[in-house]
Amino acid sequence: MTARTFTAEDYAARMRRAAEAAAASGLAGLLITPGPDLAYFTGYRPPADTERLTMLVIAQDRDPVLVVPRLERPDAEHAEGASAIGFADWTDNEDPYSLAVRLMGTRGRFGVADNAWAMHLLGLMDAAPQTSYAALSRAMPMLRAVKDADELERIAAAGAAADATYRKILKAPFAGRKERDVAADLADLLRAHGHEQVDFTIVASGPNGANPHHEAGDRVIAEGDAVVLDFGGLKDGYGSDTTRTVHVGGEVAEEVQRVHDLVREAQQTAFEAVRPGVACQDIDRAARKVIADGGYGEWFIHRTGHGIGLTTHEPPYMVEGERNALVPGMCFSIEPGVYLPGRFGVRIEDIVTVTEDGGHRYNDTPHELAFVA
Ligand code: ZN
Ligand code: ZN
Ligand code: ZN
Repeated sequence: MTARTFTAEDYAARMRRAAEAAAASGLAGLLITPGPDLAYFTGYRPPADTERLTMLVIAQDRDPVLVVPRLERPDAEHAEGASAIGFADWTDNEDPYSLAVRLMGTRGRFGVADNAWAMHLLGLMDAAPQTSYAALSRAMPMLRAVKDADELERIAAAGAAADATYRKILKAPFAGRKERDVAADLADLLRAHGHEQVDFTIVASGPNGANPHHEAGDRVIAEGDAVVLDFGGLKDGYGSDTTRTVHVGGEVAEEVQRVHDLVREAQQTAFEAVRPGVACQDIDRAARKVIADGGYGEWFIHRTGHGIGLTTHEPPYMVEGERNALVPGMCFSIEPGVYLPGRFGVRIEDIVTVTEDGGHRYNDTPHELAFVA
């Protein structure tokens, strides 16, 4: 089943909502350069993000306009949302920043896409010294956080593809192979299940499991290892991100089993805390309390989760200090872990969405410690 294509009207609605939200938070407008925000508002993903300025200007009292190099305009005009925007093109002998400023106005505070190139932002500041800027994820962190039904369908499909990947990798040989070979299997499986982009394939065996973002390397996996598998990417433009910890062979050290049980309980407890109105930090606290009560609090060294959508890491963050409340349609990971330096690590991660009366998981493979050969 393929998801419904987004229409120009979908994109227009997103831009209208963003323009209102920007005005409500005191911004004169939003400046969106190529990346996930531009894809969100227009469906446009330029073939390359270059030194030539491409920038969508969104403001409440005028129609959205895309500043675009003339040679790339034909590409931009083929974007799904093209009919919802105007175009202002420029050639190599023109100054794109003064063109942008004519559309933005010469004063006011603007929200800028997080990944805008510094040279572009500096160009705007030079061209309009009375403007000021805020990073979009700071000024409007929840801009893309609540997903609509079509986005949820894509995230669900990405999660199902990640689950299928996991079920397959359980049948692969582990003992005697290098981490990087298992990682290559994971990447192949994600692509075979419809991912167009693989963002990470962490295979962290034995002591390497104590590094949450370990790069799969040359270590040869051995009988008796706990192995953290964390993999994800984009399918149909939307993200997957799943972690399971497996064990090579059936003879599990007592502490590995105990820590795994604890992390599993923490993941479940945090999941059960999900419902509309609960602060993001309370999801983190729910997971953290279980692990602290079990005596491993100092080894749970990262936040409990992050949002997911057009990227695999984005707001909302399940972290102490994030007081924004959960809203139906938000999607994020719940991924507590315990990392014992020089020994082993355990992490369990599902993607979850907020529903009217609780949480719903987009991963449904078992959490129990699985045995691989
Ligand atoms: Zn991570
Ligand atoms: Zn992950
Ligand atoms: Zn994650």
